[in-house]
Formats: sequence, structure tokens, C-alpha cells
Amino acid sequence: ASTSEEKDLIIIGGGVAGYIAAIKAGQEGMKVACIEKRGTLGGTCLNVGCIPSKSLLNNSHLYHQILHDTKNRGIEVGEVKLNLQNFMKAKDTSVNSLTKGVEFLLKKNGAEYIKGTGSFINENEIKVDLNDGGESVIRGKNILIATGSEATPFPGLTVDEKRVVTSTGAIALEKVPETMTVIGGGIIGLEMASVWSRLGAKVTVVEFLGQIGGPGMDTEISKASQKILKKQGIEFKLNTKVVSGDTSGDLVKLEIDAAKGGKPESIDSEVVLVAIGRRPYTQGLGLENIGLELDERGRVIIDSEYRTKIPHIRCIGDVTFGPMLAHKAEEEGVAVVEYIAKGHGHVNYGCIPSVMYTHPEVAWVGQSEQDLKSQNIPYKIGTFPFSANSRAKTNLDSDGLVKILADPETDRLLGAHIVGPGAGEMIAEATLALEYGASSEDIARTCHAHPTLAEAFKEAAMATYAKALHF
Ligand code: NAD
Repeated sequence: ASTSEEKDLIIIGGGVAGYIAAIKAGQEGMKVACIEKRGTLGGTCLNVGCIPSKSLLNNSHLYHQILHDTKNRGIEVGEVKLNLQNFMKAKDTSVNSLTKGVEFLLKKNGAEYIKGTGSFINENEIKVDLNDGGESVIRGKNILIATGSEATPFPGLTVDEKRVVTSTGAIALEKVPETMTVIGGGIIGLEMASVWSRLGAKVTVVEFLGQIGGPGMDTEISKASQKILKKQGIEFKLNTKVVSGDTSGDLVKLEIDAAKGGKPESIDSEVVLVAIGRRPYTQGLGLENIGLELDERGRVIIDSEYRTKIPHIRCIGDVTFGPMLAHKAEEEGVAVVEYIAKGHGHVNYGCIPSVMYTHPEVAWVGQSEQDLKSQNIPYKIGTFPFSANSRAKTNLDSDGLVKILADPETDRLLGAHIVGPGAGEMIAEATLALEYGASSEDIARTCHAHPTLAEAFKEAAMATYAKALHF
């Protein structure tokens, strides 16, 4: 093994957390190396997560719309056919150009990209098993763990990424299955259920909780979203858990049980998607060599400046605390480098938006109504339906609503929850308002262009302290 010069910062993991930190460190003039074993940068998000799924979501929506939503728009189409191979190729083209773009950005900012698997030898040295063979050892003044997460396996059901898939297999199926069962009605489950249901699969989502979208989604918005997705043909079994699975037959058999002691039944399907959450990934990292311990959920323990108990070893992204979201990891990538370079950084964990990219999208930021209720925090509500928004009407796409929660005394925004067209873009405005401590009146008195979907957001804000104009 060869030992190279000492770096100011070694980053293990080139996902969104790690590559952003590498770019930022380069910009700060640090000598930085980013170690990534996948062979491409961008991690789960760019290679097998956020980005490829958005290609499939966008194009499956277009396909579904051409099949079912053209006549009333005065558009007549001839024979419509799905070419799944080319459909997947379009996804791969987007992913490839973006991963190459990230590689270019590292180079442009003077960050070294090492293709290999990094592990701790001791508190300052990292061994890299190079993808091209051989190994090297690098020393770092600072080391950043950004190794991300992996799909949580379902006990007793072996993932082969063909019949029993995680999100990785679900974005690469070679044919549209006739039937698909999704274990877990969280964001991955619902995005993938949408893709394959639009392409023709009969999809059933089995969710342990009484609502879809995970516990963070506002219950009223979750119900509205479920109603719309049901209309699109997705079947839901809530308050139901999958107990066991059997892959020995032609179809995968799942035994399911109503969560609160209902009667058991079984579901057969061609493909089963396991989407019951993700867990931190630290395998092979050699944490035992530096005495770093994990918490009960496998997360690397850090302080508010991302330091482990060894102060020059820090950690960000999915492998530590907080929501497993790419944009959260990205914020941390910038902040952690600022802490190292300047001693201060900033991430507001109360102000991280969430988006579910179904159609319509669901997006939220801040606290949900059930959060506020459970903490006995008083609130007032303003809502506005997209059916009263002129742009949504002209687009013939007016399912959904905006719901604003504000402090009854100060009128300060507490949360914004949207199910509707363009929700994922619109939430940026709500996030900015929340970050700046805006009141709902501040939002409503800000002129919004007409006709836009964002006027629904303005009118919902108006409805918290006065009356909406168009509803
Ligand atoms: P999740 O935690 O969001 O949802 C998993 C769901 O599975 C939960 O609702 C849970 O109640 C349910 N569940 C667990 N065990 C079950 C069982 N035995 N039977 C039935 N239901 C069961 O996890 P996910 O959807 O797998 O996503 C993983 C992570 O990736 C999350 O942090 C998510 O936010 C993130 N992600 C985000 C996006 C996005 O922002 N658009 C997209 C994909 C993934």
C-alpha cells in the first residue's frame, strides 16, 4: 500500500452528503478527497433513488395521461404503446449525465475523487481498497463519514431484486407485472406504486399505520391523497401488517394481519416491493478500529456540530440522526465544512420540506396538525382547494388543497401542507416563509402572479386570519 500526502478532509461516501461536502471543501481551499465505491458519484439518490424514480414518475404520468386524460382536452390520439426498454433507457440517460456532471463539479473545485472502499485503520488513516485493484492509505486532519443508508430488509423475505424488490429493483423491472404488493405505504411505497399502477399493474399497498405517507404527513392531507390515489386504481390495506412471505410458488405469497388483531389473509402477487424504511449503512467501515459506537438504530452518534466523540471525525446524512432526505444531507454537507473551516454552520431542522412525488404531489414543511395537537400548541387553520384555483381549473388538474397552520396570537406560520398539482415546487415558498418567521398575513399580502397555482397558497394563508377571496 502506498501512503499519499495528508489531506485537510477525507470524506467516506460520495452520495449527496459526501459529494456536496467535497465541493464545498474544495471551494474553501481545503485539500479534500472523496472516497466512493459505487463507481459513480451521487449515492442512492442520484443512482437508484430520487433521480431515476422521478424519470419513471414523470414519464409514467405522461403515458397514463395520454391513455386516460386526452379526450376531454380535445386531443385525439392513435395507438399508444409502452416500450419499457426505452422507458428505462430514458431514465438511465438522465442518471448518467447527472453523475458525470457531479464528477466534473468535484474536479472543477479541486476535490479528489477516489474510486474504492474506505475503512478506518486508526483515527487519522483510511485504507482504500481501490476498485481498480490494489490499496492505498490516506491520512486526514479531518474525516467525514457520509456512508448513507440501505433498505431495511423484511425478515424472512429474501430480496432478489426481481420478484422481491427494494426501491433499487423497483426502478429496473424488465416487464410490467400483472400484480404488485407494496409492503409499507411510506414515500417509496407510494411513488413506486404510482409508477407501476400507471403502467398497468394491479397494485396493493399494505400499511401498518392508519394513514399513508408515514407519520409525518398531516392526517387530513394524507386522507385526501389516499382518496385521489385510490381513484387512480391503487388499493390500500391500512392498519394491516405483513407477517411473513413465501417465495416458493409461481407468485410471492404474503400473509397479512390486521394490525389490531383482525383476521389473517394472504395476498399473491408477481412482484413484492419491500418499502418499510431505510437503515444507516456502516458495514465494513472499521468503526471498531476507532472505538466509535452506534445508537440502538445503528446511527453514528454526533453532537450539534456533527462531531463524533473523536472531534476531528464528523458524520452527516442518512447514517446519522434526522430525516433520511437528500436535501437534508446536502444542507449538512455545506454546514459541516463551514464548521471545520470557520467554526460555524447552519441547518434549521425545523424547516426541512418533504415531498412525495405522486400525482398530485404531496408536500409539507413545519408541523402537522396532529403534531401541534399532541403538544397542546394552539393553532388556527386556513385551507384553500385547488378546485377554486383558476390555473388548476384550466389545467383540468384541480384535485387537492393547501392547508396552512399559524399561531393564533402572533399569526406566525407553524406549518404548510399541500396535496395538489405543483406541490413540490410550491413548498419552497412555504419553506422560505417559515425560515424567515413570516406570518400568514405576510404571505397573503405578497403579490402572487395570476393565474398561477401558487395563488392557492396565498389564499390559504389569507384564510387563516381573514376570508379567502375565491372560495
Ligand atoms: P418510510 O419510513 O417513509 O415508510 C415505511 C412505511 O412502512 C411506514 O409507513 C411503516 O408504518 C410501514 N411498515 C413498516 N413495517 C411494515 C409491515 N411489516 N407491514 C406493513 N407496513 C409496514 O420508509 P420508505 O418509504 O421505505 O422510505 C425510506 C426513506 O427514504 C424515508 O426516510 C423517506 O423519507 C426517504 N425517501 C424520500 C423520498 C422523497 O423525499 N420523495 C422518496 C423516497 C424515499
